[in-house]
Amino acid sequence: MLYITAIAGVFVNSNRGVCFMYDVVVIGGGFAGVRAARDLGKSGRAVLLLEAHDRLGGRTWTGQFPQTDVQIEIGANVVVPEYQPEWRNEIDRYGLELISPPPPNPADPVEYRTLVQGEYKDHFPLPLYEVGEAERALYVLRDAAARIDPTKPLEDQDLADLDVSLAAFFEANKIAPATGELLGAYATGLAGARPDEISTLHVLEWIRGYGTNPAFFFYGLRNSLARGTGGAIEKMVEDGGFEVRLEAPVAAVTEADDAVTVTVMSGEAITARTAIVAVPTNVLDRIAFTPPLSAEQQEALAQKHPGREFKGWMLVKPLSRPVSCFGMSTFQILRTTRRLPEGDLLLGFGCNGVVDDVDLTDHASVQNAIRRHVPEAELIRYVAHDWVADEWINGSPRVHPPGTGQSFAGIMEKHHGRVSFAGSDLSRHFNAWIEGALWTGRVAAERAEQILAGND
Ligand SMILES: Cc1cc2nc3c(=O)[nH]c(=O)nc-3n(C[C@H](O)[C@H](O)[C@H](O)COP(=O)(O)OP(=O)(O)OC[C@H]3O[C@@H](n4cnc5c(N)ncnc54)[C@H](O)[C@@H]3O)c2cc1C
Repeated sequence: MLYITAIAGVFVNSNRGVCFMYDVVVIGGGFAGVRAARDLGKSGRAVLLLEAHDRLGGRTWTGQFPQTDVQIEIGANVVVPEYQPEWRNEIDRYGLELISPPPPNPADPVEYRTLVQGEYKDHFPLPLYEVGEAERALYVLRDAAARIDPTKPLEDQDLADLDVSLAAFFEANKIAPATGELLGAYATGLAGARPDEISTLHVLEWIRGYGTNPAFFFYGLRNSLARGTGGAIEKMVEDGGFEVRLEAPVAAVTEADDAVTVTVMSGEAITARTAIVAVPTNVLDRIAFTPPLSAEQQEALAQKHPGREFKGWMLVKPLSRPVSCFGMSTFQILRTTRRLPEGDLLLGFGCNGVVDDVDLTDHASVQNAIRRHVPEAELIRYVAHDWVADEWINGSPRVHPPGTGQSFAGIMEKHHGRVSFAGSDLSRHFNAWIEGALWTGRVAAERAEQILAGND
């Protein structure tokens, strides 16, 4: 293609006639892509964001529970601005309001059902002789997390011994069985993969991020946004002044010396001076890159990550008491969130491949999964999205498989000419959290500015 002029965001003459060249095309409209587009739009760049779905937000999705006025998050909801600076900035910038769950009601006490070693406990879940061991386990995790220096790339640190599965780490550190099972159940519910599938280093990075305090996960993940993650995306889009096209999945990204051509699956070709690819790593191989990604990147992407967390909002006929269930079951975490006139609204986090699998499209299958914890539950209706079956996502948040936690971000961050990558899956900061998506969006936008200024 012969460009007579290649001035940013203007009409240019090519050998195919007059066409518009954007400064930046952003591919993928989750928090990473929207953040990058917002930053670049605000600095006056001509930006087009292409999103495959018919909505923005990606693995965040604010909705309403059917036939109620209850706002729900079908994907991410927890934000932790005290440890997450990118979120802190967004919250301050747009005056976003935070909410936390109401305190327990002493007149309607919660019934705790914790599954450990095949039995439900309604009181302290560990054998008393394991109490000291449980405390030791938290110190083991804390001390291991403290070895991570967040100011240096993971691959430059002596951490290979931690890039083993959580199951292997527990075994090597002789974590007592019931304690290991409970910690493993929590990690499974949070990450959407079994302890034998998760790199310990990945979990330790989160612990390091949350004040090097493993106990934080049990009490600190409380706040969400009053107007939902969708409210934050709306503000960023309104503010950014960039163009958005929905239902525009990208098939190919082709680089030339002075421009990038992005081809949408409909066949339309769009040109820009630089592009940011912010799609989940499990679907990155659906985009054909010319020149191709490096052999190292292709190899890293060929191993799809096993994150397959599902989250369900389920209305059941009124229970005698609110419940809080926990343990290695189909839902590792299941609790009452609201007692509505029609019934109790339960929120569950689970992962297939632990006990029996749940088919999220089937009412009876979801009811069976709930009944493992709450045998008396009668499901009325529910909302859940299968993030693995979603063709443009194919997984929940990234879970680094053992042996990849130390290297993945560094491999993916290697520059690819005029194309940069973003997304929580490949973040060095709060990988797999929205915070990581926001961080990579900022970094990719900064690199795009350098390219546009001719400095990269
Ligand atoms: C059930 C669940 C619970 C979670 N809970 C939390 C939580 O409480 N707190 C938290 O911080 N994080 C949580 N997360 C993780 C969080 O949602 C993600 O880390 C974050 O939203 C990822 O943002 P992203 O922009 O990197 O990717 P995504 O949000 O996945 O956005 C990528 C976008 O790219 C689009 N796309 C893909 N391929 C193409 C293509 N070829 N062309 C165009 N567009 C394409 C996709 O449709 C998608 O919209 C949770 C995730 C899930 C699934």
